[in-house]
Amino acid sequence: MQASEQIWMDGKFVPWGEANVHILTHSLHYGLAAFEGIRCYKGKQGSAIFRLQEHVDRLFESAHIAMMAIPYDKKQVTEAIIETVRVNKLDSCYIRPLVYIGYGMMGVHPGDNPIRLAIAAWRWGAYLGEEALTHGMRACVSSFTRHHVNVSMTRGKISGYYVNSILAKREAKANGYDEAILLDPDGYVAEGTGENVFIVRRGRLITTPLTSILEGITRSSLMQLARERNLQVVEERFTRDAMYVAEEAFVTGTAAEVTPIREIDGRRIGTGKPGPITTSLQQAFFAIVRGEDSAHSNWLTPV
Ligand code: PMP
Repeated sequence: MQASEQIWMDGKFVPWGEANVHILTHSLHYGLAAFEGIRCYKGKQGSAIFRLQEHVDRLFESAHIAMMAIPYDKKQVTEAIIETVRVNKLDSCYIRPLVYIGYGMMGVHPGDNPIRLAIAAWRWGAYLGEEALTHGMRACVSSFTRHHVNVSMTRGKISGYYVNSILAKREAKANGYDEAILLDPDGYVAEGTGENVFIVRRGRLITTPLTSILEGITRSSLMQLARERNLQVVEERFTRDAMYVAEEAFVTGTAAEVTPIREIDGRRIGTGKPGPITTSLQQAFFAIVRGEDSAHSNWLTPV
């Protein structure tokens, strides 16, 4: 990764190379922390952060679910995020706020350990690669299952949940795929390791309902853009074979943006090239985040 200059830690900026924590930091041992992934895009009218308010809201929701009281209010966190982009002089970047349980008590119960907040930002290109963005990626259905609703509360973007994602991602990469798609405990499609999944079937855009998945901000943005273009959008469970016979498929996420899927488990999806609906929604998304289309300018926070 490409280092930037400063990281915001508990209210002050610390040089990138000195942004350290104690080895007995509670979150490091047991995995309870909450985080966000946010993108800032370089646009026509300068740089802007995409859906900052929604990301700050979700960070607070994740922390609430995890019973971690963030020692700042939303306005302070919002300003700290903007300031982190500014001080690092980044015109486009990925921003990572992390709420974590600090050093103090050990053992599973974190007691009164301090709740800490760090915000880093760095340059980050296409998460699944430029080739995948333009030509589509190859995905597999994972041998790992996504969280049952009573094992993990997936409305929260909680660090420990990503153990499941790492296992699936490593397996997919080792088998020569770009990304894994995980099924829920009932066998229906849940989500990617860091993305929500959409398919197009008989002209309808279908995505997983909010049961075993993260409530993606890119997901809801894409659903809105699709409805504005008079597409029928439904949230309903679908199976892996529904993906195989889909006309089009793609994933959405802050890191992955809108990435077409051209193959799943060795089956070509549609023509094997990004389909017309995927392409038009991807173009609409990039035009908005780059400020080329003024529709939804309220989704952008200038830096
Ligand atoms: N699902 C998972 C598991 C994720 O990690 C992400 C990335 N945050 C998403 C879905 C997509 O969410 P968003 O569009 O808000 O980035």
